[in-house]
Amino acid sequence: MSLRFELLAGGATGPRLGLLHTPHGSVATPAFLPVATRGMLRGIAPDRLAPLGVQIVLSNAFHLFVRPGTETVAALGGIHRMLAWDGPVLTDSGGFQVFSLGALARVRPDGVDVEDPVHGGRVDWTPRRAFETQAGLGPDVAMVLDVCPAHPQRRDEVALAVERTLAWAREQRELHAARGGAASGQALFGIVQGGVHADLREACARGLTALDFDGYAVGGVGVGEPHAAMMHGVEISAPHLPAGQVRYLMGVGAPLDLVESVARGMDMFDCVFPTRTGRFATALTRHGRLHLLNARFSRDPAPIEPGCPCPACVMGVPRGAIRAGFKSREMLPPILVSLHNVHFIVDLLRRVRASIGDGSFEALRAEVRAAYGARVPPAGPDGRDVEV
Ligand SMILES: [Zn+2]
Repeated sequence: MSLRFELLAGGATGPRLGLLHTPHGSVATPAFLPVATRGMLRGIAPDRLAPLGVQIVLSNAFHLFVRPGTETVAALGGIHRMLAWDGPVLTDSGGFQVFSLGALARVRPDGVDVEDPVHGGRVDWTPRRAFETQAGLGPDVAMVLDVCPAHPQRRDEVALAVERTLAWAREQRELHAARGGAASGQALFGIVQGGVHADLREACARGLTALDFDGYAVGGVGVGEPHAAMMHGVEISAPHLPAGQVRYLMGVGAPLDLVESVARGMDMFDCVFPTRTGRFATALTRHGRLHLLNARFSRDPAPIEPGCPCPACVMGVPRGAIRAGFKSREMLPPILVSLHNVHFIVDLLRRVRASIGDGSFEALRAEVRAAYGARVPPAGPDGRDVEV
């Protein structure tokens, strides 16, 4: 079975409801993808995923290529067996990770030369290698290798990144067609770059759409820019993507960023945010963040969030015990808070879907804005967004 997206509600802009059908099951969108960069989620065992409400998992082709290697993953039975997860899997090509290595990566017209973060030496990471690595790993969805400029960048550098992104996309689209396209059981998504420049975003989106990918991602956001700039990147990209195909916003996962991106027409999201914040003792709740290392929790017998149905809260481990465990470097507290946070984010997207269905999305959007900071600034006196 090949990948198919069913748009159930909404259009080119605004909140949308959909179903992404993959060879390993269907995903109700908007949806969040927890991140298993190296083939494992940090602190979350595979049997926890379905009870947490997880529908689809992300892994990273570049990191798996470096260790344990594509052939080793294939010998284990492929990426689904490595994750011990029978649901849908998406692999990123590693474009963002490669470019986040900054000075360690050298972009050439035909690929990127990057330092091997495990073995030393250099890796020649080309569009063909990113494509073939993902074909060997066997996810339901593979991503093209793109050129992801850091923030901020000069306009001419972003323009060159778009030019190379489109050339590499064409090369990978041809490799995908030669393999049978989505009928091979593996879909391929294109990635829109273009930074903060509306004309470059539009040109990139139009160039990718002409190549007819199975889905489209917006990349180059969540790279350290403020919330308003992130939303600007979405606003100048989403309207140029086909309404009937799935849109994936890469690397975004904070509560406010999620609901504001849904409001701007995006369907899928991934981020290390819930597990990373969990490892640093910060819990996400309906009322905002809880910093569990704070002394005020030392004698607090309540679970992380009373009434929360996640395993950590149902087990009832007290906030005070979690705080003490973090202080004494026990391995359980980061796991408990990660479980809670992944549930919180996945459940937030479930609530987003329900609210789009029953017309209460704006009320949920206001609730998240109240809990996670009034970080969506009003327009400034000159019409520009004000940084807060
Ligand atoms: Zn919980």
